[in-house]
Amino acid sequence: MRVVRIIDGTTVDGPGFRTSIYFAGCTHHCTDCHNPETWSPQSGEDMSLEYILERIIENDFDVTFSGGDPLYQIGDLIALAWRIKAMGKTIWCYTGYTYEQICDNAELRPILDVVDVLVDGPFEKENADSGLLFRGSSNQRLIDVRHSTRNDVVLWTSEF
Ligand code: SF4
Repeated sequence: MRVVRIIDGTTVDGPGFRTSIYFAGCTHHCTDCHNPETWSPQSGEDMSLEYILERIIENDFDVTFSGGDPLYQIGDLIALAWRIKAMGKTIWCYTGYTYEQICDNAELRPILDVVDVLVDGPFEKENADSGLLFRGSSNQRLIDVRHSTRNDVVLWTSEF
């Protein structure tokens, strides 16, 4: 997979300490994106699934997919996610797509079978708020994927 960086223990991309993987490639091109260096699908370096999994095992934290848009590499991402899930770890996934767009896309939809929380939608400069928990703009939602359906979105709360 093409990865810009792995952070081996962050507290800003979901609850608790997490291994955050920043994947290369993003076509959303949000104004004032904080990570424009990740837009190119050629940014970063090639990392094998086994290498990424080794880093996750070594850290022994839950996992967050970020970027870039992780869904840009959807096939490998789904394979990686199931391997992580088999370890019993939770997965948060940031994406510039909305939850509904993913539900309606046959190629992207299978990621919803494996991630626990989806932080959805593009960063919107006009809705930016630095006080929001785990997200940059108020249009983005922390979606409890396990309890949500296409027409009934349940937001994540720290009680779950
Ligand atoms: S989706 Fe995320 S990485 Fe992509 S342009 Fe928007 S803020 Fe940047």
